[in-house]
Amino acid sequence: MNYNSLTTHETQNDSISITGKSEDSTYWSVADIEALLDAPFNDLIYRAQCVHRQHHDANGVQLSTLISVKTGGCPEDCGYCPQAARYHTSVENQDMLSLDDVVSAAAAAKAKGASRFCMGAAWRGPKQRDIEKMTEMVRAVKSLGMETCATLGLLKPGQAEQLGEAGLDYYNHNLDTAPEYYEEIITTRQYQDRLNTLQEVRNAGINVCCGGIVGMGETRQSRAGLIAQLANLNPYPESVPINHLVQVEGTPLYGTAALDPLEFVRTIAAARITMPKAMVRLSAGRQEMSEAIQALCFLAGANSIFYGDKLLTTGNPETDHDRALLDKLGLHAL
Ligand code: SF4
Repeated sequence: MNYNSLTTHETQNDSISITGKSEDSTYWSVADIEALLDAPFNDLIYRAQCVHRQHHDANGVQLSTLISVKTGGCPEDCGYCPQAARYHTSVENQDMLSLDDVVSAAAAAKAKGASRFCMGAAWRGPKQRDIEKMTEMVRAVKSLGMETCATLGLLKPGQAEQLGEAGLDYYNHNLDTAPEYYEEIITTRQYQDRLNTLQEVRNAGINVCCGGIVGMGETRQSRAGLIAQLANLNPYPESVPINHLVQVEGTPLYGTAALDPLEFVRTIAAARITMPKAMVRLSAGRQEMSEAIQALCFLAGANSIFYGDKLLTTGNPETDHDRALLDKLGLHAL
């Protein structure tokens, strides 16, 4: 299947090119992005930093807090995920949180400096009664003055509109990996299902948050393939989380050979260069990353992190550590 037929991305104006390819092109082939990933590290980071400075506050980082509003028991088989019911992991199932719990968590996150609050639920997709509860949560979190994001799985026609009417700013739905590697990771939903949900989100006028996971045993070409899919969406996502696999015992991907951390930095740089205006989110996996690698990710154009000591179920650096790191690097919260 040719997923690239969905494509073409915004034109950008940047003259710095290390590969013969610049951001004002209309289409990024996998080979174009492989050329970026293959470039000398200094050239790649320099180009990413130049693009970053053209479009963003060079020293600003958005702080987002993530909460799991319904945990575990998911019928899907995503090979990295401890919330899949079929894998035996230490994650305990938890029914949907109450509205009060969610609002308290959002208020606490805001008090600590987060400006964006993301709500995740482990479903194949929400039922109508779930959408009704989620719209209440979105309205309540919005009323605190925070940006809202939700990640609830596949959306049926009409569901995105309901979330949009409640004021949802972003819907997250990741492509996870390149099309050719996808079946190694997930078999219970197809790549096209994901693209269909992204289209529902676009049609409802909600911003798209869409990225992937690296370190799942994929090749550099597959990492390029993922970035090409994202960059060629029309338009490309406003928000691009780049996750590093967090290996959880009991999941099929536990024990996957570790990715060279500099390869992760290269992937961030490729995302920044090919999607200049997007927020590039340094997402899962930071707890296992050194401060030096995180600093390189910021240099490569990452400008958002998850802030709070827990992601949906896996660990994240303590907020005090993150504040100290931002201070050390002279970065400020957006
Ligand atoms: S990633 Fe989401 S859809 Fe996949 S198993 Fe985990 S909770 Fe379910």
